[in-house]
Amino acid sequence: MINIPKGTKDVLPADAYRWQYVEGVARETAKLYNLKEIRTPVFEHTELFLRGVGDTTDIVTKEMYTFRDKGDRSITLKPEGTAGAARSFIENGLGNGVLPVKMYYVTPVFRYERPQAGRLREFHQFGVEVFGAKGADADAEVISLADSLLKRLGLKVKLRINSIGCPSCRAAYNKALKEYFAPHLDGLCYDCKARFEKNPLRLLDCKEEECRKINAHAPSILDYLCPECAEHFEALKAYLALAGIEYEIDPRIVRGLDYYTRTVFEFVSDDIGAQGTVCGGGRYDGLIGELGGAPAPAVGFAAGIERLLLVMESTGVKIPEEEKPLVYFAGMDAECRKKAFALTIALRHAGIYAETDHMERSIKAQFKYADKIKAGKVIILGEEELDSGVCQNELQEGAMSVKCMASSESEKVDFSSAAEYFRKKKGE
Ligand code: ATP
Ligand code: MG
Repeated sequence: MINIPKGTKDVLPADAYRWQYVEGVARETAKLYNLKEIRTPVFEHTELFLRGVGDTTDIVTKEMYTFRDKGDRSITLKPEGTAGAARSFIENGLGNGVLPVKMYYVTPVFRYERPQAGRLREFHQFGVEVFGAKGADADAEVISLADSLLKRLGLKVKLRINSIGCPSCRAAYNKALKEYFAPHLDGLCYDCKARFEKNPLRLLDCKEEECRKINAHAPSILDYLCPECAEHFEALKAYLALAGIEYEIDPRIVRGLDYYTRTVFEFVSDDIGAQGTVCGGGRYDGLIGELGGAPAPAVGFAAGIERLLLVMESTGVKIPEEEKPLVYFAGMDAECRKKAFALTIALRHAGIYAETDHMERSIKAQFKYADKIKAGKVIILGEEELDSGVCQNELQEGAMSVKCMASSESEKVDFSSAAEYFRKKKGE
């Protein structure tokens, strides 16, 4: 037997409604904020991620699914959604149209990670990008969208915000970080030793226990912000207050991608331990320019759908039940089963969620099956029902007895008014 690749998961038919629910709420929330969907390819030229995500990030150094295609091009399965959206924004000249350009995506994402609960090699993200607006009100709007989504899903999470400044204030901060970490170098993990040389900011993002102890006392970026970045951060706080959103300031948050500037934020749930970050984002004013476009400010976030589902499950959030068939047609004998088949199809044409038997079940087994699929009503078609119709036109003229599964009450309905009858039931 061939097994599923490590770190991937099937969404089985019985569970798909949970995904549809979360994605539906996400799309609905995006619409309330006037965002339109963007769909970009699952694979891109590797170069896009090297430049877009940053070559000192975990993603680029060890997590990408990169291969040569048959034309000998280096191709990478998208490890995040922003780089592709930014590429498309540039390539399609969206910056020349009406600004800001507000978009969202729902996409599979691929990262070669060590699989564990809430950490997969193929996972899914709902993400948001707003291009063209530089003010902190755009940051607050994007945060508010994430906040609305999480609240609508019934999640209790905490928002943590920080500013990691711009390249100019970060130069002074990187120097301070290096001075702080230099005497602790021996105690840092292998990766952090490389981070110390290449990108000291990344030292704050390490998940190793020993490194975390050391970086707990590192200098705070907030003491190094230039006046413009400090002002942006103050404005963000004021806009969050206007939106009625609570937050904590956490100067340790730097996020996992290199393209962030100024605002960074995370929504964290305490319920699923180390993988509790359900959503992360920030501002990336340098990305569009870095990818060769006319510089445009941008802000966004991505939320992991598996993690949202995991937190919903572990905190007992109820997902609305899946819709059930409104009606099930059971046939007493071969002739009646044909009638059941025809009626089922006719009702579906009328937009009614209907089902019948395809397993040659006995009438008793058909009842059992109808119960299993939680059909609202069962219609039994026997000789009597068939006889009461006019032969050529029996679909329209016959009468059926309708049994309510729950109460076993029955009533008579004309074939001709069946669709109308069930449409009314649907509305009840
Ligand atoms: P983490 O710190 O958990 O590794 P990250 O900083 O790599 O997260 P982002 O790149 O910002 O995460 O991705 C946004 C969201 O995607 C995360 O907040 C999380 O919900 C989800 N996510 C990230 N990596 C995984 C993964 N391997 N499996 C499932 N979900 C993930
Ligand atoms: Mg990660």
